[in-house]
Amino acid sequence: MGVLSKTRLSSRGRTECFCAFCREKRKINLKKSISLVNIIQAAAISYLIMMALWWELDARVFFIFAVCLSVIEILILVRWRFAVICPNCGFDPVLYLKSPEQVVTKVQAHLKRYDDNPKSSLSPSPRRNLPVVIIKNNEARGSARG
Ligand SMILES: [Zn+2]
Repeated sequence: MGVLSKTRLSSRGRTECFCAFCREKRKINLKKSISLVNIIQAAAISYLIMMALWWELDARVFFIFAVCLSVIEILILVRWRFAVICPNCGFDPVLYLKSPEQVVTKVQAHLKRYDDNPKSSLSPSPRRNLPVVIIKNNEARGSARG
C-alpha cells in the first residue's frame, strides 16, 4: 500500500502504521483476502449447515461452501476498507488515490463533527498533527508595490 507507511507487523496480522495526512500512529489490519484458516472455517460452517439441514452428506454442501467463502471474502474486504480510514482525522487513502477532492470534503466533515461534539473537548484534537498550508498572496504584494 503506497499511501500508508507501514512500520512493522504485530501479532494477529495487525500492522502499525502512520496516517499519511495527520501522522498519527495506529494499528490496522492489512489482510485483504481469505487465507487457509478462512477456507477451513468456511468448510466447517458449510459442514454444520449441511448436517443441520439434511442430517447426512449431501452434494449441495459445495454450493454452501462457495457461498461461505464469498461471504467471508466480502467481510474481510469490507473490514479492510473501513480499517484504512484514519479514525483521528478521517483521511481515506484509497479514496485519495481516486479523488483527492472528495477526501478534502470528508476530512473537513470529520473535523466539523469533532468541533460540534461537546464530548470531543476532553479528547486530543485531530488538528494537532495536521500539516499547515502557507498561502503566498502574490497579488497583495504586487498591489502594495504598485
Ligand atoms: Zn489521520
